[in-house]
Amino acid sequence: MKLPPFEYRTPETVEETVELLGEFGDEAKILAGGQSLIPLLAMRLSRPAVVIDINNVNELNTISNGSGLSIGALTRHRTAERSALVQSSAPMLVAALGYVGHDAIRTRGTIGGSVAHADPAAELPTVLTALGGSVSATSARGTRSIAADDFFEGFLSTSLADDELLTAIQLPPRPDRSGWSFNEFSRRSGDFALVGVAVSIELDESGTVVDARIAMSGVAGEPTRAIEAETALRGNPAGPESFATAAAAAAAEINPSADLHGTTAYRKHLAGILVRKGLNEACDRAKGTR
Ligand SMILES: Cc1cc2nc3c(=O)[nH]c(=O)nc-3n(C[C@H](O)[C@H](O)[C@H](O)COP(=O)(O)OP(=O)(O)OC[C@H]3O[C@@H](n4cnc5c(N)ncnc54)[C@H](O)[C@@H]3O)c2cc1C
Repeated sequence: MKLPPFEYRTPETVEETVELLGEFGDEAKILAGGQSLIPLLAMRLSRPAVVIDINNVNELNTISNGSGLSIGALTRHRTAERSALVQSSAPMLVAALGYVGHDAIRTRGTIGGSVAHADPAAELPTVLTALGGSVSATSARGTRSIAADDFFEGFLSTSLADDELLTAIQLPPRPDRSGWSFNEFSRRSGDFALVGVAVSIELDESGTVVDARIAMSGVAGEPTRAIEAETALRGNPAGPESFATAAAAAAAEINPSADLHGTTAYRKHLAGILVRKGLNEACDRAKGTR
């Protein structure tokens, strides 16, 4: 189907972009990789009066590591996936990117687009939540940092204001003796997951869990922390017993909707399996045995 009519703007700086967002507000849509927006336009599920194409805003195409990793919003999935800096600083993100659609989609799709789009089954919002990351949002009023836990608000919905541009994501440095894992289950390779689970765990010298963050996709309208499971792990020895308890807690604390891909009970079952598997993998990495 043809796209609906819209005014097309091509700013070259963040300043010009936020000026346009300030002028047009909720009448405008940012166009990044277009992998989600163009189908939405074609299906008439989105009808913005103005499309602001940010593909010429080169200052959004950056990867840097200072006190944590910062990835500019316009960085393509493939660029991040192949970056040595991202591979060493955020291997969980690289693993998760491997599940995003297919190579062609990742060649166009952007880090900022995936996070701003906030699909409940998407990989990047889940990673950002599990790693305790944040996003930078810029408007003519200035720039603010929003923690992942406060950013995702429900199905395709975030706390980004109409005049704000997502300019970058930030991931904190990895603590010593920490480990990560990312696993998901989908019926076909490249499909959105029925359930995905990202685990970040930190152990002390004796193998006791100091901290754990578990984020799940596909089980609610936004990435969902397994808070009960995390609490069950903290202060306990990392091992089969505490992992089984945490997996059961994670499955019990969610109530995913049923659809033609799976029932509520099936998704809860999958979440428990993936949490236990993810904890084992993350623990092995924290101990340096994987
Ligand atoms: C066949 C297919 C399979 C896919 N499979 C997956 C998958 O398995 N997992 C997955 O996560 N995704 C998947 N996707 C979606 C893909 O990852 C998209 O690239 C991503 O969701 C959106 O990124 P984009 O850069 O293309 O954004 P766009 O499509 O350009 O924009 C998406 C939305 O985000 C907004 N936006 C974009 N950038 C910004 C910004 N910087 N600031 C504020 N708002 C912004 C836009 O206005 C729009 O509302 C798939 C897509 C296709 C076509």
